[in-house]
Amino acid sequence: DDLEGQVRKWTDAIATGKPLETEVRLRSSDGQYRWQLDRGIPLRDEHGNIVKWYGVVTDIEDRKRAEEALTVLSEDLRESKAKLEKAQRITHVGYWEWDLVSNRINWSDETYRIYGLRPQEYPMDIVKVQEKIHPEDWESGMKVALSAGDRFDAECRVIRPTGEIRVAHFHGDVKRDASGQPTQMFGTIQDITERKRAEEALQLVSSDLQDSKAKLEEAQRITHVGYWERDLATDRITWSDETYLIFGLRPQQQPINLAVLRQKIHSEDRALLSHALDEALAGRARYDIEYRVLRPTGELRVVHSTGDVKRDASGKAYVMFGTVQDITDRKRAEGEREKLRQLEADLAHVNRVSTLGEMAASLAHEIKQPIAAAITSANTCIEWLSHEPPNLDRARAAAARIDGYGNRAAEIIDRIRSLYKKSPPRRELVDTNGILEEMLTLLEGEASRSSVAMRAELAAGLPKIMADPVQLQQVFMNLMLNAIEAMMESGGELTVKSQMQDAQLQFSVSDTGVGLPMEKKDEIFSAFFTTKPQGSGMGLAISRSIVESHGGRLWATANAGRGATFHFTLPAQTAEPTSSTFSAGLDASRMN
Ligand code: ADP
Repeated sequence: DDLEGQVRKWTDAIATGKPLETEVRLRSSDGQYRWQLDRGIPLRDEHGNIVKWYGVVTDIEDRKRAEEALTVLSEDLRESKAKLEKAQRITHVGYWEWDLVSNRINWSDETYRIYGLRPQEYPMDIVKVQEKIHPEDWESGMKVALSAGDRFDAECRVIRPTGEIRVAHFHGDVKRDASGQPTQMFGTIQDITERKRAEEALQLVSSDLQDSKAKLEEAQRITHVGYWERDLATDRITWSDETYLIFGLRPQQQPINLAVLRQKIHSEDRALLSHALDEALAGRARYDIEYRVLRPTGELRVVHSTGDVKRDASGKAYVMFGTVQDITDRKRAEGEREKLRQLEADLAHVNRVSTLGEMAASLAHEIKQPIAAAITSANTCIEWLSHEPPNLDRARAAAARIDGYGNRAAEIIDRIRSLYKKSPPRRELVDTNGILEEMLTLLEGEASRSSVAMRAELAAGLPKIMADPVQLQQVFMNLMLNAIEAMMESGGELTVKSQMQDAQLQFSVSDTGVGLPMEKKDEIFSAFFTTKPQGSGMGLAISRSIVESHGGRLWATANAGRGATFHFTLPAQTAEPTSSTFSAGLDASRMN
């Protein structure tokens, strides 16, 4: 490749007579070309004519190589410097150098930018640098870092000329001379303000999350509600800690899948579970199931589990998730409550029966009256028949009276029987005034024995209502007996009223007795509250629960003069019974 050029150069040199210096590749004996420096000088005679050319050929292969390498290198360097600058800009990493001997500091462009300056705005020295670093950080970060050893790593706040504060991370190295004196420091500076902020935000969010996760766990623990999730593709079931606890396990004690779950469920309930899952997956019913969990200790717990199905766009189910709640205690409490309710109902019955027992004497009196009257009429009848001729008209009239008295006695007995009977609640059209009149009749003897006069102010034309007549009888009887008992010592007047008030039937039973016990106006309605030596304290509690089960209200007021008045309302419209048991509404709180 060099031949032509070489020939031309020599031709020129010979023609012009100028010394020649050229680089040419010559082949050596091993067949390899090597760069040579070919230099020629003309030798002239006294006339100045060229007689000879002297030449020297020097092998410059190595220098050539080195030069080439150098150009490549310098090109590379230029390129890498540009790349480095770019990288510095992108990563916000700057480069710095501090010559400890001359105290000169070099900054890369990006370093200037990080400090809020234009690239190479002015030369740097250590005093200027120190000015730009937050004093606290200079002391605690930079200085400590500088004395730490050959490597350092510090985080400092950089104050920009605008006053803006940036957080920068310094990495550096210290160079020392042979005697160990530090001569130079160099390293990088990185603006980590954004990263810091992001980290802080992340920390905040994650601590928030941690917090809400903890709260959730706490809530789950308090409410005994656990969470579960079943991946339908892998059959993996994820449980929250509380779910593990409900199943009698340590949190995350073992992996769960459907087979494992089934194992932990009472064998009788497994079919139920399968059915509920099938129905939910088929989209026929929401997953809502109660089953018994068999804890490893053998203890049985009742749980309530509900769930939902997640489906993809094509409607294919891929995840089921939901909650599980330990309802054993609630179940138990419900059972207790049911027992209590039964007890109350029984007690109410006993109460009624014993009240009636106490009334037996007066009732005997009640019944004796028509029977005595019937006997008298029967005697009269016999007498009229034994007349000659018999007075049939009078005998017939006497017989009719016997019939009347007999019926009256039978009615009284029936009514008593109906009070004794423990019958389920019923609703029928009831004439409340009729019931009141019956009760007045029934309690006549009791009243007169306590020198109590009974008065009725019954509104005419009251609508009949749907009610349980036996229960209403009982309310009236309780209130009227209480009234009579309140006037036992002194005698007095008992007034029963009925009226329409705001589309409701309203009744009152008032007396002129001892009055309500002081400051116990509300307690009197509590079960077992009594001020009487033989009292049961059940009368008012039962009465209130009966009235409330009919949709009404029962309360007491003190009279302006002597005594107390008990009022109660019943809705006039025909209402459905609100509860099936006699003592509906008598809840545990009233038992206190
Ligand atoms: P008992 O009659 O067995 O005591 P009650 O529930 O019927 O049970 O009554 C509770 C209490 O309410 C009575 O002990 C009494 O102190 C008070 N009380 C009820 N009715 C009257 C009334 N008419 N006047 C004054 N106090 C009454």
